[in-house]
Amino acid sequence: MIPPGETIGILGGGQLGRMMALAAANLGYRCHAYAPEADSIAADVCAAFTQGAYDDEAALAAFAAQCAVVTYEFENVAAAPLAAVSAHAPLHPPARALEVAQDRVSEKSFVEALGGRPAPWAQVDSLEDLKAAVARIGAPGILKTRRDGYDGKGQWRIAQPGDADALDLSAKPLIYEGFVTFEAEFSVILVRTEAGEVRFWDSAENVHKAGILDRSTVPAAPVILAQVDEARALAARVADALGYVGVLTLEFFATADGPVFNEMAPRVHNSGHWTIEGALTSQFENHVRAICGLPLGSTALAAKGVVMDNLIGDDAHDWPAILSDPANHLHLYGKAAVRPGRKMGHVTRLVL
Ligand code: AMP
Repeated sequence: MIPPGETIGILGGGQLGRMMALAAANLGYRCHAYAPEADSIAADVCAAFTQGAYDDEAALAAFAAQCAVVTYEFENVAAAPLAAVSAHAPLHPPARALEVAQDRVSEKSFVEALGGRPAPWAQVDSLEDLKAAVARIGAPGILKTRRDGYDGKGQWRIAQPGDADALDLSAKPLIYEGFVTFEAEFSVILVRTEAGEVRFWDSAENVHKAGILDRSTVPAAPVILAQVDEARALAARVADALGYVGVLTLEFFATADGPVFNEMAPRVHNSGHWTIEGALTSQFENHVRAICGLPLGSTALAAKGVVMDNLIGDDAHDWPAILSDPANHLHLYGKAAVRPGRKMGHVTRLVL
């Protein structure tokens, strides 16, 4: 058990680390952020900050030596250099979870082996591979980078087989996925302790715009609620297989044939931001509790319902209007530059 007063190391400098650090502070912990960028919005609310590259083993080791436990908020950290962290402090969730989740091929293979069902997919390393994949799986489909994609970046829609011919595939390893006809999208967010206790938050119904999460609503539509148990069982198998400690997210499409696995994130998730006000214990607090070996807090709903809207790009300029309604809970992440498609904050409303 890592008692309050100790220092939690956070790899990654974004809003997830920021909200994690705020939750940790409420429990009396200090946080130490580690990120490559000079201006980190997580570091703004942490007691200490190391600016370093994710593959700088000496800097990672020096950072970990100052922490009682290390976690991450960003899944594109290379797993191998994290051995330098583990030599000095426990790393939760395990590096294996990063390895699996940061490559769409290993992620889908791992989940399939545990009985999960993703969209039909094929690894694509050449134009020939892509043509063969489109011939086998069909179009429409989506070509995605295997690594480093987020918020709809690194994705190309293939509407018809001929669309594949014009693409330049030289850049990076890719994956082709058949397009899923879904009725709705949802996420399963769980927290798991080292002893194997697992708790789930209510599943939010998620609506994306241009590949970016726009709104999460709890409770989700009946079509989702009918599929949550199956999705939860899969998420629990994933967490158990990884010996997972902390918060884990799996995203699903609710289809006429049941839940189709989309992707997993070995971390707290945007579709769980509603838990800050909408659950008895937030995803951020329970993540801190789990990695520090504290008892978990209740994940039960704190209201009849919750709606969380992301503030993307220029939406953030609307903060005066948002605050003019006293029922709105406004969260701004402190990002200096507003850019189109950039997550600047979110606003949560409870249905009481
Ligand atoms: P991803 O980054 O893979 O989560 O994709 C972002 C969003 O694009 C998803 O939440 C879906 O709305 C959409 N999307 C991704 N893959 C597929 C697919 N195979 N079929 C249908 N929609 C998809």
